[in-house]
Amino acid sequence: MTNNQEFDFVISGAGLVGCLVTIQLAKLGLNCCLVEKNEIKNIPSFDNYSPLSLNYKSYLALKSFGLWDKIQSYTYPIRNLNIKSYHSLNRLSFNAKDIYLNDLGYVIDRRNLLQEFLNQIKKQPNIKIYDQDSISKFKMNHDNNYKLTGELSSGLTLKAKYLIVSDGISSKIKNELNIQSLVIDYAQTSFIFNSTASFKKFHAIQVFNKYGIFAGIPYGDNKINFILTINKKDIPVFFNDKNKINIDLIKDIFKDYANEISTLKLVSQYDLITSRSKEISKDNILLLGNSSQLLHPVGAQGFNLAVSNIESLINHLVNGKLDIEGLVTAIAESRDSVFNNIDLAINVLGGDKFPSKLLSFFVMNSIKSSQVMKNNFLKNILGIDNYPYLNIGTDS
Ligand SMILES: Cc1cc2nc3c(=O)[nH]c(=O)nc-3n(C[C@H](O)[C@H](O)[C@H](O)COP(=O)(O)OP(=O)(O)OC[C@H]3O[C@@H](n4cnc5c(N)ncnc54)[C@H](O)[C@@H]3O)c2cc1C
Repeated sequence: MTNNQEFDFVISGAGLVGCLVTIQLAKLGLNCCLVEKNEIKNIPSFDNYSPLSLNYKSYLALKSFGLWDKIQSYTYPIRNLNIKSYHSLNRLSFNAKDIYLNDLGYVIDRRNLLQEFLNQIKKQPNIKIYDQDSISKFKMNHDNNYKLTGELSSGLTLKAKYLIVSDGISSKIKNELNIQSLVIDYAQTSFIFNSTASFKKFHAIQVFNKYGIFAGIPYGDNKINFILTINKKDIPVFFNDKNKINIDLIKDIFKDYANEISTLKLVSQYDLITSRSKEISKDNILLLGNSSQLLHPVGAQGFNLAVSNIESLINHLVNGKLDIEGLVTAIAESRDSVFNNIDLAINVLGGDKFPSKLLSFFVMNSIKSSQVMKNNFLKNILGIDNYPYLNIGTDS
């Protein structure tokens, strides 16, 4: 085996984002090298559900990538979204039909999605995988073609035209590039529970209340995920001494939406210390996914933003050459829009100070009173602004 290999793209990190970008680049005929620190192997069977919500824009992107048919059977559609803010007696209810769509988005188990990506990767002859390995050193060089040289921990040397950094929140490459991040500690912990309950088919709910931000995301006709983002100071209210969840409180939070909520099974929990990198590229190096931003789960946007960024990347490739400047501008715009949505939701709909309460009341009422505002709000959540080919409804 040669000790010096040349690639169009080297991708560091084979999570959902690294895998998806590798597949799409390889489909364009580009030579890709995927480097993953862990072993890449088939995902063993699992007995819980780890939800990932795909918004409508991600659905469109995955469809245009030719991947939707492969994953559709694992997805559960969301057709109605309810938003409830404790500052206002108003509830907002959005239906896919309001904007002439069949579905607003889809829920999938992230492991099914990753497994399908791995299946696709194995089918592409122009993807070289180095797993249980990582880039230990890299440097820019004057070679006009291959601007980057990287050394793997195994000793192998790679040359690349471009490097995609998709190695997650603790990215070493990002640190070496000295890219700073805005770190936001929300003083909240997110818990994901699986449960069964009775609720209206295909309906999801997001509740803003004094304890935090809560979502009910179905994944089957009586199966539901409760995603509880609880203010740390309020966690004792939710768990008893034996760390058992207070199910009566959950029933109360989701009343009017779900009944007969059964035992809650904890899937995962994590503290909400999020990060937004201040730069997303240096020379021919681009950050994507969690290495670029780790987001608050409100509105479930992290992977969706990465999918949109991957779509931009593909659109900014001309004859295998990347228009980095154009791409960075497009990505910066979509990041800002998502960050603004998240900040608005948390500070206005979820904020517990007097001005937020008043603003929340105003926002909820305004949206409710105008179908145009409601539709625009919905399009914003779904990420389908500027999709002129969609027949989006207007005021009738
Ligand atoms: C509980 C939870 C629920 C979520 N729900 C949603 C949702 O509903 N909708 C949504 O859009 N987003 C959601 N997100 C966000 C979404 O999961 C992330 O945006 C997405 O998974 C990021 O993927 P990634 O590939 O960038 O990072 P990761 O999944 O962290 O993958 C990074 C990969 O890089 C590898 N790696 C690390 N270091 C190195 C190294 N030095 N060298 C090589 N490889 C390395 C890791 O082993 C890993 O395989 C959720 C996140 C969480 C935690």
